[in-house]
Amino acid sequence: MINKKELWERCAAFHGHVCGGLTIGYQAALYAAKLLGLTFSQDEEVVCICENDACGVDAIQVMLGCSVGKGNLLFHLRGKQAFSFYNRKTGESVRLVLRERPAGMSREESFAYLQAHQPEELFDVKKTVIALPEAARMFRSVKCECCGEITAENMIRLENGKSVCLDCCHAYNRFDVS
Ligand SMILES: [Zn+2]
Ligand SMILES: [Zn+2]
Repeated sequence: MINKKELWERCAAFHGHVCGGLTIGYQAALYAAKLLGLTFSQDEEVVCICENDACGVDAIQVMLGCSVGKGNLLFHLRGKQAFSFYNRKTGESVRLVLRERPAGMSREESFAYLQAHQPEELFDVKKTVIALPEAARMFRSVKCECCGEITAENMIRLENGKSVCLDCCHAYNRFDVS
């Protein structure tokens, strides 16, 4: 079992720099691992739904093995420092929401604050509101009859009786007119 210092160094190496945002993800991952008994996800045993696409997500990828490629890192973008974690084996889940921090801190002070506190002091533990998503599916490959490129079946639309990809398809939506 690697120690926290080494985990943090791995996060920093992957992310490219150290910052408060990375610390938020690092602390969230530590807390989720503790609450749900998580270890690095070799496949899709651990799922994270992240409500932001900021620095912290990188720590979650490194520490818990939730990644876009494996399909166990999903985004529900709300601009919130909130992360839902799911343990597929036990069915348990938790949503961690960063508490309000003291106002008026500089970037350096904020980083120091986030580093100095325990995860229990930084996050509210809430119930997840999004049900555990199904495991990533495999889809048949279909050739777009317009551009000729191969795409996944679930990304195909019918237009004038032809199977076309989303880039070739002309959207028809009379409600969301900007
Ligand atoms: Zn950063
Ligand atoms: Zn196409």
